[in-house]
Amino acid sequence: MALLGATGSIGTQTLDVLRAESERFELVAIAGGQRLAELCAISKEFNVRAIGVVSERDRDELRSLVGPETEIVIGGEGLAQLAASADIVVNAVVGFAGLPVTLSALGAGKRLALANKESLIAAAPLVAKVRDTPGAEILPIDSEHCAIHQCLAGSNETGHPDVALIHLTASGGPFRGMTSQQLSGVTKNDALKHPTWIMGPKITVDSSTLMNKGLEVLEASALFGIEAERVNVVVHPQSIVHSMVEYVDGAVLAQLSLPDMRLPISYCLGSPVRFDHAWGRLDFSKNLLLEFEAPDREAFGALDLAYAAARAGGAAPAWLSAANEIAVEAFLNDQLRWADIVPLVAAVMNQYVTDPLSSLEDLFENDATARRLAHGMVPR
Ligand code: NAD
Ligand code: MG
Repeated sequence: MALLGATGSIGTQTLDVLRAESERFELVAIAGGQRLAELCAISKEFNVRAIGVVSERDRDELRSLVGPETEIVIGGEGLAQLAASADIVVNAVVGFAGLPVTLSALGAGKRLALANKESLIAAAPLVAKVRDTPGAEILPIDSEHCAIHQCLAGSNETGHPDVALIHLTASGGPFRGMTSQQLSGVTKNDALKHPTWIMGPKITVDSSTLMNKGLEVLEASALFGIEAERVNVVVHPQSIVHSMVEYVDGAVLAQLSLPDMRLPISYCLGSPVRFDHAWGRLDFSKNLLLEFEAPDREAFGALDLAYAAARAGGAAPAWLSAANEIAVEAFLNDQLRWADIVPLVAAVMNQYVTDPLSSLEDLFENDATARRLAHGMVPR
């Protein structure tokens, strides 16, 4: 197995799963964007053969920490090399930087356990091509998509004509129920307090704006070949029902569990085998209250932006994701107010020029343009 993004929230939870299932897997490669000491500790614990880092400087620093028998590779090319070197590849990198992992793992015919939704969303037409490689498959770690994957078992895979709707559940984030006026004053501290999940900073901010759910609509559409119009977002504050599939005959299948990412990670590593180890169990003898409500699409404009990007297709999702990355980064650096994140992304999307996204060069160009426009809108 290769675990790329090993030091993050998904990365460390994947290591928990590996410790619990140590007989089944051998971790051969890891990568991370910073925290070299942590990478070194992981490499020693699991005896990995190769480590990916971002820069030559990181490589030199890491070289002094690990033995000469450990290979060290650099940058996107290094990530691609590691992703082609194992049977199972976990993409736990955050943001567009995870693209080489997704494309390389699928191109090499591997199982891709995908947490990095940004790469799939931005490159959907290109991913669709490499996905046909013999042996290649995507198993979604994102909890909602992992739930949908399970609820779709038995459905006709070509376009899923028997599916009426996918109900993508959302916790609603820390600002659920607040009006646009109340939202205008929220702070970084408020945004970083997620009610049900502990995650990396980018996805935590995305959850507060509901951009995460918007991105997940695009992710579901790309993963399952179902138009965004058949993906419905429903707010479910308890995060117990991880998503639902409603069939044409009215039957609704759901997957329930405690909110713990180690379950979807285990599922993606083991499928079709289920590991005999539960990361917590639901107790139906206690009062288990499950609530559902429609999202407030006026106060949380990110959802409509995502549906519009889905309708536009081509490079529009890549623009949405790139502009959002810049806006979130600016917010985390105290350069942008929370209430300005989604309007900034909307302003970038207003300048989108239709592009069918035919090549990787085309994607990099679109990504760079969207980022440049977004940067230009961040107050100095
Ligand atoms: P995180 O910020 O905690 O971790 C990100 C990891 O990526 C770190 O190991 C970091 O070092 C690494 N990284 C960053 N840039 C890199 C680069 N250029 N090269 C190599 N490594 C790099 O993020 P996270 O919360 O673990 O999220 C990872 C991905 O999983 C995101 O796409 C997120 O949307 C998705 N996801 C996360 C959760 C969750 O519970 N955390 C749930 C669903 C989906
Ligand atoms: Mg999710």
